Amino acid sequence: MQLSPETRLKAILDGTGAGTWEWNLDTNDVIFNERWAGMLGYTLDELAPVTFGTWERLCHPADLALAWKALKKYLDGKGPQFECVIRMRHKNGDWRYIHTRGMLLHGTHTDQPRWLMGTHLDVTEEKVTEHRLSQLAESLPGLIYTFVMEPDGGYYFTYMSRKVEDFFGITPEEACSDAELLFQHIHPEDREAVHDSIADSFSTLEQWECDYRVINSGMTGWLRGVAKPEQEPDGKVVWQGMVMNIDDEKRLELELERLSVTDELTGLFNRRYFLRKLEETAAQQDRYGGEFSLVAVDLDHFKAINDAYGHPVGDAVLKRFGELIQRRVRKSDVVARTGGEEFLILMPQTSLENAAQVAEDLRRAIENESFVGDESQDFRVTLSAGVVSCMDEVVTVRDLLSICDRSLYRAKRQGRNRIMVQYPLSGRQA
Ligand code: GH3
Ligand code: MG
Ligand code: MG
Repeated sequence: MQLSPETRLKAILDGTGAGTWEWNLDTNDVIFNERWAGMLGYTLDELAPVTFGTWERLCHPADLALAWKALKKYLDGKGPQFECVIRMRHKNGDWRYIHTRGMLLHGTHTDQPRWLMGTHLDVTEEKVTEHRLSQLAESLPGLIYTFVMEPDGGYYFTYMSRKVEDFFGITPEEACSDAELLFQHIHPEDREAVHDSIADSFSTLEQWECDYRVINSGMTGWLRGVAKPEQEPDGKVVWQGMVMNIDDEKRLELELERLSVTDELTGLFNRRYFLRKLEETAAQQDRYGGEFSLVAVDLDHFKAINDAYGHPVGDAVLKRFGELIQRRVRKSDVVARTGGEEFLILMPQTSLENAAQVAEDLRRAIENESFVGDESQDFRVTLSAGVVSCMDEVVTVRDLLSICDRSLYRAKRQGRNRIMVQYPLSGRQA
């Protein structure tokens, strides 16, 4: 069966549910189809006589300017078609959102009338859903977004909820027009990890998850991003995701981590952390060579101090001693209180001579410090220390610690208030 082009066009338009309009720009004559009127609850007969003014009268006054602006843009050659969404009054009094599109029909002669023709589609349901979704997005504690990555690695955001202003200090419009504006707010130390994790999720299509820091108005905060990727037929991957503020969680996590490695009384590290660092340092030396040193310190006759002045005074001595050590070591050294009045100092990249010097300084410092007892009595405290260094010897960390301890006990045996240096190690096997 051969159908005329008119019949086919009408069938297509009926299928889309679109109203049609034609407007002669020179005479202002208009032609609307029945569906155009039906969309607003009327028949064409009810609206007769249908003129250009009929459209103007049904338009929301606030949206008329918008329509004129879009039309001017199109007539000025900026855009492939005339397009806007305006509100129009339904017969029942409701406002309907109408997606209007149109194109100029060019005649072959300049004296032919210029007709603008197009369609009207009722997009009220979409608008309502969109509005509901954006309200939902605003009420969420996190930021929601859609992120796209092309197979060539190019990326951009196609949706961003308002929360991006709180988290990144940029508007959704800015983020969607240039994704870099958002990535620039990620802490420089975390940016690479964020990009790497996105690349991973792109190739594995596994859920993207990443904790990272963001800098907004000079303040650093922690964010957690979670997004589900989906690959499109053309190879690009689209993530629907959410970003949450995890400052409180991170603060707690970091505090717990700090507590788990800290000696409460002195604020120095604890034994567990010290041993971990010692293992790491020994492994590094195994691989790259170099020398590191260890100092074991034990306060002399500390029991007697406790007995004479009380436990709280003993505690104050331990705290003060912790400060004295910290003032004499480098940032890369690790100082721990490993027992009641026992301390260990790990000095990476340090020779025995230098470590012995630090220990001797410390011995003098505490010897010259005057402490005050519970009844204002002055008293003095001394220490004994063992110093050992590890260069090429193949020893286990345990052996190294016991060699250091033995030096310390030698210092005790020889009368206390002294340091004993052990070098070189006598080729102990692991
Ligand atoms: P030496 O010179 O041989 O090391 O004698 P010392 O008395 O220091 O050695 P000892 O190991 O016999 O005693 C250590 C004392 O340290 C026992 C305990 O009263 C005290 N001590 C351990 N932990 C703490 C603490 O946390 N606070 C206080 N105030 N004293 C502690
Ligand atoms: Mg002791
Ligand atoms: Mg002691």
